[in-house]
Amino acid sequence: MDSISVFEIIKVGIGPSSSHTMGPWNAAEYFIDYLKENGVFGQLKAVQVHLFGSLAKTGMGHGTDLAVVMGLAGENFRKIDTRLIPDKLAKIKNDKVISAGGSLAIGFDFEKDIVFHFKESLPFHPNGIRFTGTLSNGEEISREYFSVGGGFVITEGETDSRIKKIVCPYPCHSALTIVDYCRKMNLSVSELIMLNEKAWRTEEEVKQAALNIFREIKEAIFRGINTPGILPGGLNVKRRSAELNKKLLGEQTFTDLNDWIAKVRSVAPSFSNVNKWVSCFALAVNEENAAFGRIITAPTNGASGVLPAVMMYAYLFTEDFTEEKAIRFILTAGELGTLFKKNATISAAMGGCQAEVGVSSAMSAGALVEILGGTPEQVLMAAEIAMEHHLGLTCDPIGGLVQIPCIERNSMGAIKAITAANIAIESDPSDAKVSLDAVIKSMWETALDMNNKYKETSEGGLAVNVPVNVAEC
Ligand code: SF4
Repeated sequence: MDSISVFEIIKVGIGPSSSHTMGPWNAAEYFIDYLKENGVFGQLKAVQVHLFGSLAKTGMGHGTDLAVVMGLAGENFRKIDTRLIPDKLAKIKNDKVISAGGSLAIGFDFEKDIVFHFKESLPFHPNGIRFTGTLSNGEEISREYFSVGGGFVITEGETDSRIKKIVCPYPCHSALTIVDYCRKMNLSVSELIMLNEKAWRTEEEVKQAALNIFREIKEAIFRGINTPGILPGGLNVKRRSAELNKKLLGEQTFTDLNDWIAKVRSVAPSFSNVNKWVSCFALAVNEENAAFGRIITAPTNGASGVLPAVMMYAYLFTEDFTEEKAIRFILTAGELGTLFKKNATISAAMGGCQAEVGVSSAMSAGALVEILGGTPEQVLMAAEIAMEHHLGLTCDPIGGLVQIPCIERNSMGAIKAITAANIAIESDPSDAKVSLDAVIKSMWETALDMNNKYKETSEGGLAVNVPVNVAEC
């Protein structure tokens, strides 16, 4: 089994969905690259996009159509100024022309050239997408991709072709192996993972990548708490983090991130206050995510508020939080995420919300124990506890938008992670009856048994019992 870098699990992303926005965006880039690699890109005259399964059913609410267009146009979601996207999209719609790969003008009718196959799913995976390019000689080239969660994209039967294939010096494909290595080598989880990460990049690059993620997290939260208003999509969901921030800090406005951080730190850390702040951090990130903003995917976008909320809790409300702890937090959380990706799923279309918020809660719980000084066994115990109490969690977004229940659910995932960490750090893991490996196996079996209505199709649960005018969404 190939190893997965923690920076494939925790990375810069764009909202609102890793599987339905970033994955299709990546797939469009891959298709353009495929045409280039095969020497036919210059002959491209037209392109059609076919969305299947969950990508069709909830694609409009998740911005899948927008994402494929941006990807075909050669835009990079890691760098694009997200405020410019609406204008870029409007121009393509009005002109009916797209600059394929950023350089080749071809006709493209947004209304006709993106086809939603609402009743059809490709057999390999529920998140299927097919690109068909027509060349100047009339030949058609089709290629199918599958968005398998967390922005990962594969073709049938492949692992992600863009991920550098590496087997780390200390391969950790189960929780048990992590503990075994840590015991034998007398290392913490993050020390072990640092040795593995050096298979991809230097130690200094690993540290910088982790600190960059921490910086992006703080900035995403700060953007969120500074942006009141209504979220896009038609549900008229009010952004609440800005209001909550004001209730907690008073009317003072902040234009500088560090001033705001100092102010939050000065607040009396009562249980009630800390609880509200953790919720506020998660709401802030997920509101940014729902508004097509830049966030940190961890391990998905729908669940992108959990890890930042727990990390900010540690940063602002625990003692002696240092940059070194930030790095250890990211390494531990990312590695725990890889266990779920390798042995179960991080795709809601495969496993419901347990695969998104459940996994992010488990990642964050373990990472918190790591920086609070817990043993490797306690780190894994915390991750196990957090996931155990997310098993079977359904995905039923109202109107197909990553808003209800998603935004609040991140606050719940963060609070559960902190509780799981506190339980684990006060426990003797040798008394535990449930291992992390057992809970991951249970999660996967639950995913297989789960009715498709609850796997990001908006065909069950809240999505059908809460009356909304979906046409307006
Ligand atoms: S319900 Fe959970 S899994 Fe589904 S879109 Fe929302 S956050 Fe993602």
